[in-house]
Amino acid sequence: MKYVLVTGGVVSGLGKGVTASSIGLLLKACGLRVTSIKIDPYLNTDAGTMSPFEHGEVFVLDDGGEVDLDLGNYERFLDIKLTRDNNITTGKIYQSVLDNERKGDYLGKTVQVVPHITDAIQKWIERVALIPVDGKEGPADVCVIELGGTIGDIESMPFIEALGQFSYHVGPGNFCLIHVSLVPVLNVVGEQKTKPTQHSVRGLRGLGLTPNILACRSTKALEDNVKAKLSQFCHVAAENILTLYDVPNIWHIPLLLRDQKAHEAILKELNLIGVAREPDLQEWTARTRVYDILHEPVRIAMVGKYTGLSDSYLSVLKALLHASVACRRKLVVEWVAAGDLEDVTAKEAPDVYKNAWDLLKGSDGVLVPGGFGDRGVQGKILAAKYARENKVPFLGVCLGMQIAVIEFARSVLGLHDANSTEFDPETSYPCVIFMPEGSKTHMGGTMRLGSRRTFFKVPNCKSAKLYNNDSFVDERHRHRYEVNPNMVQQFENAGLSFVGRDETGQRMEIIELPSHPYFVGAQFHPEFKSRPGKPSALFLGLIAAASGQLDAVLQNYGHASKLLPNGIGNGKPTVKTYQNGNAIKSSNGSLNGVYSNGNDNGNGAHH
Ligand code: GLN
Repeated sequence: MKYVLVTGGVVSGLGKGVTASSIGLLLKACGLRVTSIKIDPYLNTDAGTMSPFEHGEVFVLDDGGEVDLDLGNYERFLDIKLTRDNNITTGKIYQSVLDNERKGDYLGKTVQVVPHITDAIQKWIERVALIPVDGKEGPADVCVIELGGTIGDIESMPFIEALGQFSYHVGPGNFCLIHVSLVPVLNVVGEQKTKPTQHSVRGLRGLGLTPNILACRSTKALEDNVKAKLSQFCHVAAENILTLYDVPNIWHIPLLLRDQKAHEAILKELNLIGVAREPDLQEWTARTRVYDILHEPVRIAMVGKYTGLSDSYLSVLKALLHASVACRRKLVVEWVAAGDLEDVTAKEAPDVYKNAWDLLKGSDGVLVPGGFGDRGVQGKILAAKYARENKVPFLGVCLGMQIAVIEFARSVLGLHDANSTEFDPETSYPCVIFMPEGSKTHMGGTMRLGSRRTFFKVPNCKSAKLYNNDSFVDERHRHRYEVNPNMVQQFENAGLSFVGRDETGQRMEIIELPSHPYFVGAQFHPEFKSRPGKPSALFLGLIAAASGQLDAVLQNYGHASKLLPNGIGNGKPTVKTYQNGNAIKSSNGSLNGVYSNGNDNGNGAHH
């Protein structure tokens, strides 16, 4: 096993996760099998309890692990399936050491950060690196480890110490350290400044780690004299100094790295020259070019609780993007704060109310994502009602499906008090109820988490077609509440179809309104399994419906691979060449790819 460690210096938010995923992708393109580990030096044992508003979305894995959103980047870029143990947190390490201490495993010794915590970190890494994540047998060739935070943080000290020991233990030729840093340009002189990077490399060395490669974020490519200076002061060969200059979207990063021969530098450090081949990024390049030239917009209203921070819905945005690229449309996300659609806002802030409704009405499709708690629920219900009545394409994910059911119960069945017991435990028509897989009385551990199977009950429905007419599909879940099985018949009689259910037939997984162009809801979160070249079926359905291409897609039975590289539309990719520096530039210089209200929305450089 070979290890690539990615650390970050100077400031947070350099796009370290995207860089690490891109390095993994590049190595994969060289024919190597790649896995990854993300280290988060916080005390939470997992990301499940962390606010998406503060920390970005909680990403869910097949095994039910609730993890940092960077693992989503790895899964998407490398097309792999990680496990909960691929996300190491301080909390997890301490918990395992403390459990062992209680069991008496340390034989009377004083339990200390060094060596007990640091040993536990190293053992964890070695164990997890061996887990196959690409569907093949046996361990991968390379494990990319991303250390969260910035060098110098108090929290990451035990990890740095452990990784220093680890690099010594696995030995030269098996370990490559890539330090991601920042080279700012001061406007007054327009000069690229190396001092912050020098300092952060010095800090790294002081902690016992020596960088093999520097990856410098900057607006333009580094000038030769700047590279020479960095090389001299940081003791890193000039050819091992890479520039991650600003690009229009994150799909360019692997190409940028390849153009600077990052793979050669890494393979040399890892003694893999001759084992790996030249990188094959043909498909990736073609898709990136398609993405670059998209101009015809598809406007999707995202009716959610958090609209200030796009990281809160990162996977949903990525899934929308993958589907939009497949449909040859430029994704424009219109953020609508659910609460702004409500009557109270009409009274308190009429301008805000009008603006929210204008955005919703100006959209080609409506998406209501998952969520917890009752804030904005009424607004989401109004958005679903609007989409249903006006035949606007609609996709409801998890809570988004539940509110569509509540809306249907209220408006079509006339059950005005219908609600989810999550929001009104006393409702006389509980159409969404607490349906844990385990205990009904204990909140802890009652979430239905991870991969579960959905069987299609109606073979020719739109969702089944989008899923290639397969008889079942495995998707990831994260919820406690579900549609009340006792009310299903009543709904179906009124025209709401429950086309996908679990193996018992008691848990409703997919709803559809056959009389509507595209009105679909899923109890699961299809966004977590969407990939750049393999858009998630239900998202593809939404974008295709919103851009007038659903019939074409359904004729293809939603076979996404048939859509690329030629696509369903007529967007002909033109050849765009990289030039050193600023040939390709984004409007605000972020590393990002999703457009919001016509502007880049800054979710790429989020770490
Ligand atoms: N709050 C809802 C539930 O627990 C929906 C959860 C979600 O959207 N992820 O069932």
